[in-house]
Amino acid sequence: MRIINRSVSMPYIVAGLVSICSVFNAFGQPSDNDGAVSVDVVEWKLHGNDYYEQRYSPLSDINNMNVANLSLAWYFDLPESRGQEATPLMIGGVVYTTSAWNHVHALSATTGEVLWEFDPKVPKSTGVKGCCGAVTRGLAYSDGTVFQATLDGRLIALDAKSGAKLWSVNTVDTSKNYTITGAPRVARGKVYIGNGGAEYGVQGYVSAYDAKTGKRVWRFYTVPPLSGDTDGVEPLEMMRETWSETETQIDRGGTAWDSIVYDPDTNSLLFGVGNGSPWNPNIRSPGGGDNLFLSSIVSVDADSGEYKWHYQTTPGEAWDYTATQPIMLAELDIDGKQTKVAIQAPKNGFLYIIDRTNGKLISADKFVDVTWASHVDLESGRPVVNPEAEYWKTGKPALVKPSWMGGHNWHSMSLNPKTNVLFLPTQESAFPYLAENEQSPSRLAVNLGVDTKAAGLPDDPAVIKAVKEATFGSLVAKDLTTGKDIWRVNYPGVWNGGVLSTEGDLVFQGAATGYFNAYNAKDGSLLWRFNAQGGIVAAPISYKIGGEQYVAVNVGWGGIMPLMTGVLTQDSALGYAVNKSRLLVFKMGGKAQLPADDRPPLQLQAHKSTGDAESIRKGYEVYDRYCVVCHGAGAIGGGVVPDLRFSGFIGSPEAWKSVVLGGVLESRGMVSFKAELDEGDVENVREYILDRVRYAQETGDTVRPYR
Ligand code: CA
Repeated sequence: MRIINRSVSMPYIVAGLVSICSVFNAFGQPSDNDGAVSVDVVEWKLHGNDYYEQRYSPLSDINNMNVANLSLAWYFDLPESRGQEATPLMIGGVVYTTSAWNHVHALSATTGEVLWEFDPKVPKSTGVKGCCGAVTRGLAYSDGTVFQATLDGRLIALDAKSGAKLWSVNTVDTSKNYTITGAPRVARGKVYIGNGGAEYGVQGYVSAYDAKTGKRVWRFYTVPPLSGDTDGVEPLEMMRETWSETETQIDRGGTAWDSIVYDPDTNSLLFGVGNGSPWNPNIRSPGGGDNLFLSSIVSVDADSGEYKWHYQTTPGEAWDYTATQPIMLAELDIDGKQTKVAIQAPKNGFLYIIDRTNGKLISADKFVDVTWASHVDLESGRPVVNPEAEYWKTGKPALVKPSWMGGHNWHSMSLNPKTNVLFLPTQESAFPYLAENEQSPSRLAVNLGVDTKAAGLPDDPAVIKAVKEATFGSLVAKDLTTGKDIWRVNYPGVWNGGVLSTEGDLVFQGAATGYFNAYNAKDGSLLWRFNAQGGIVAAPISYKIGGEQYVAVNVGWGGIMPLMTGVLTQDSALGYAVNKSRLLVFKMGGKAQLPADDRPPLQLQAHKSTGDAESIRKGYEVYDRYCVVCHGAGAIGGGVVPDLRFSGFIGSPEAWKSVVLGGVLESRGMVSFKAELDEGDVENVREYILDRVRYAQETGDTVRPYR
């Protein structure tokens, strides 16, 4: 199937006009006077700029001829040195952004002056409920109200002028490990939000709330409940038929933790559903089955939440192949017919183009190295799975590409709707999946049904070097008209930032390396870059005010990759010792400068492990179940939370115990594990960390410690 013509999507044009008609008053405050016209202002009003979430700016004041003169206009220090994943908004002369732990900031779009701030006071102990850091991907705005969803499951409405709280509702069962990291979406008077937690055994759903009152309007469950109440679970029979009986008490997952898109053409809500819980299908659904709606794009009626259609990218998902990655809407000419499509590049490595009026697959092409399936059969819409990748059937480890980190994760992609060129941040990776049947009853344990110790890197520098070289990121420009790649930029590491493309033939992307880059959209040549003093994972925006175009991006290294696989990310992030989280805003001839980063590196302390090989091994097993998600495989930190090898607490068994069992650092997010671990476990973990210090000292492998 071929896409043969180019077209400009209508909503892009409409959104552009709406933006240009917005105004701001003399005090830089949002104005409700939508009748006046000012061509000086072009806003970024929605998460992906417009409903289609193409992340394309119609501005061209900054372009591929003059971008060399782009420089810092102002910056704002964010209050938390954690991952910053949020896309800012700009409405009526005010930049709204949210940062780690859900602090909301309203800033003058031209000067960065703080207009108001809001701290929802998320308990730091919430951090341990989530897999992926205290991150948040953004806010929603409508009709003078800013909406934020918090890590601990609240949906909060704030007055855009004052920051005053208008209403707040709890959207989750707080006795379970639900977290929210996604940005809410708002359309036609309703706010939409999902949640995360599939690695911790929860049941996923998406909810709609009345934007004015916070009253819940509908809820759509993405998987059937294990047992009990099925009220409101629809289409129940369609889902149930695809699951088998199981003895596990772990809820089925399928959390919709990021992408939610409102389709104005069909008045539908499209959302991406995550992986199953646990990953291993033998535990989740021993009799097999597709396990709807895991790893699916689901379309429902935006007003009622009633099911319309779904497309399942990975039936019977087993590799953490979420379909929660950004969904983009477009209109493409498919075989001579103007077609309303949804575009998604989920973790599983195939770029899907789907007819968004009925869910029918149009095309599915690999965008990274993929080994779990040979191809997707376009007739049935189903992947042709490689039997060797089915680790739960073979009982053997299966080295599968992409890994759980995904050929593409949540990092936003961008489409130029005039040329139909898609700019996609990709990553190459592999993971050895090995089935594990042991489950932990603790709610703080990660139960995957997969033995992650199989992925433990041997302490062999040559092996580590080979794995690092096979793990890298790219920015790919793909012509959707021909299906061909036009150009590609490679990065030394994975987990690079989201993408913005502009009418000025520019593509902006921050990278794990700490540089914010501008590429020529035509050939991928690097035209400009800025040393941001920290890894960038968030996506940039662009707006115009006072006749000047601005580009803004949040800086702050974090999320699951640095937390869990520090060993794979530490080199790529230029050796920055710590996050310095900031919002950076650029314009032509900006005069601001960042203060110099002169922080000295930390040194390893001389500690000796007194434990024997057996206690170190036991410590490793405990570490791998409880600690690895935040403190990193091999106890190598990725620069987000403390690298335990550098911890002042490891020298003393008593001090160590005071943290792990006593909870003395709970206010920083390190909760007590006394319900899970005994003193022997805790001491074994300490011995394991000390052994990692020994290894680091012997090899000099000590880069990127946390401060
Ligand atoms: Ca997952």
